[in-house]
Amino acid sequence: MIHDVVVIGAGPAGSYAAYCLAVRGYDVVVLEEDPLVGKPTYCSGLIGLEAFAKHNLPINAIIRSFTAARFYSPYGTEALVSSDRPVAYVVDRGEFDRSLARQAQEAGARYRLATKCIGISHVDGGITAEIRGLEGEERIRARAGIVATGVKYNLLNGLGIARPKRFMEAAQVEVRMRDVKEVEVYLGRKISPGSFGWAIPLGNETVRLGICNGGKAIRYLQGLLENPLIKPRLLDQAPRIKSKPIPISPVKRSYLDHVLLVGDAAGQVKPTTGGGIHYSILCAEIAARTLDEAFRVGNFGERQMAMYESRWRKEIGVELRTGSFFRRLGGWLSDYQIDYLIRSYRNPALRDLVQRTAAFERHSGFILTLCCSQFFWDSFWARLKSKVFRPLSGE
Ligand SMILES: Cc1cc2nc3c(=O)[nH]c(=O)nc-3n(C[C@H](O)[C@H](O)[C@H](O)COP(=O)(O)OP(=O)(O)OC[C@H]3O[C@@H](n4cnc5c(N)ncnc54)[C@H](O)[C@@H]3O)c2cc1C
Repeated sequence: MIHDVVVIGAGPAGSYAAYCLAVRGYDVVVLEEDPLVGKPTYCSGLIGLEAFAKHNLPINAIIRSFTAARFYSPYGTEALVSSDRPVAYVVDRGEFDRSLARQAQEAGARYRLATKCIGISHVDGGITAEIRGLEGEERIRARAGIVATGVKYNLLNGLGIARPKRFMEAAQVEVRMRDVKEVEVYLGRKISPGSFGWAIPLGNETVRLGICNGGKAIRYLQGLLENPLIKPRLLDQAPRIKSKPIPISPVKRSYLDHVLLVGDAAGQVKPTTGGGIHYSILCAEIAARTLDEAFRVGNFGERQMAMYESRWRKEIGVELRTGSFFRRLGGWLSDYQIDYLIRSYRNPALRDLVQRTAAFERHSGFILTLCCSQFFWDSFWARLKSKVFRPLSGE
């Protein structure tokens, strides 16, 4: 039997692509190596409202919404960035994935759980996926394949596609902690050099506490748990810390004939925060649309498939480039400059700039406007001078 599409991976990218294809009437089979969808989860589950407004996402998985985030500088200065309406939701990530899978199944997609894809090869007019499941090994054939395997890149080696170049590591725990009213963001070299830590309150004093950085995220999260900002508010001992890499640069090429890469597998993640759910969903929808067109014209060749890449780069390419630039720039700032920027938020002009340009899922407008602002250059120039002429004092 030859399926229309085989989707490898039942995370948000795979299940949403499967749903978008199944509602169009295609015969879709989804392979998931874990025995259950949505387990284990490593994610904080923060998703911008924009994602729910633009896509058919499961609202039953929403735990709560947020209108504000409180930023803490390394010297304890606070800035409350708030909006008069909700900007993001936090979801139960396991339930989010399971609901997306249910939605795809209701549209007609078939799921094969505890089934790992161990290789993909091109055959005449399609692909063959080699799979290993409860009943041993077998091969299944399809006209096209979507690789949505998250940060497991083994299949890309066989396809001759290079994995993303840059990664960060993220570590997270769920703890009981009091007095966390809005999302909290912790900055500073001791907290997480060039990156940040976060606390996301879920209600009933349960909080997702995490760190992302270039490496050693677990060690930095252990440090955050001991930080005077956090420790006095903790109500219990932190359980086991989970960590996982996040790609922060896209793959050079996200297509081959008959095959598309979607989500973390393609590095479609915000480099600023490591948030990848919305971009996975957005690119899954584009992948499904591209394959739909390929079926209609009966052409799965590289030129046809290349339309997927040009479309998603048009949607989020600027975000990925400016985000990556900002992450590097942020890594350059000293604790003093970070504190200066947070203090500057008291200035009505900077507040206005943030209110006008900041968006949860798209950071380029804010980054470009900030980088052209006086506050930023005052701070940045001080760092540049200190780097060139003398070490920074007090750090
Ligand atoms: C600590 C942490 C916190 C995060 N917080 C946020 C956040 O708040 N907001 C946000 O937007 N993003 C967040 N992210 C990123 C987000 O989790 C990912 O971007 C998102 O899960 C990507 O979805 P995906 O479908 O591409 O991959 P995944 O969700 O990783 O799904 C891939 C699936 O493929 C399966 N699979 C892999 N290989 C195979 C194979 N060979 N055969 C069969 N199945 C296979 C896996 O088992 C998995 O189920 C966070 C990440 C981490 C690590």
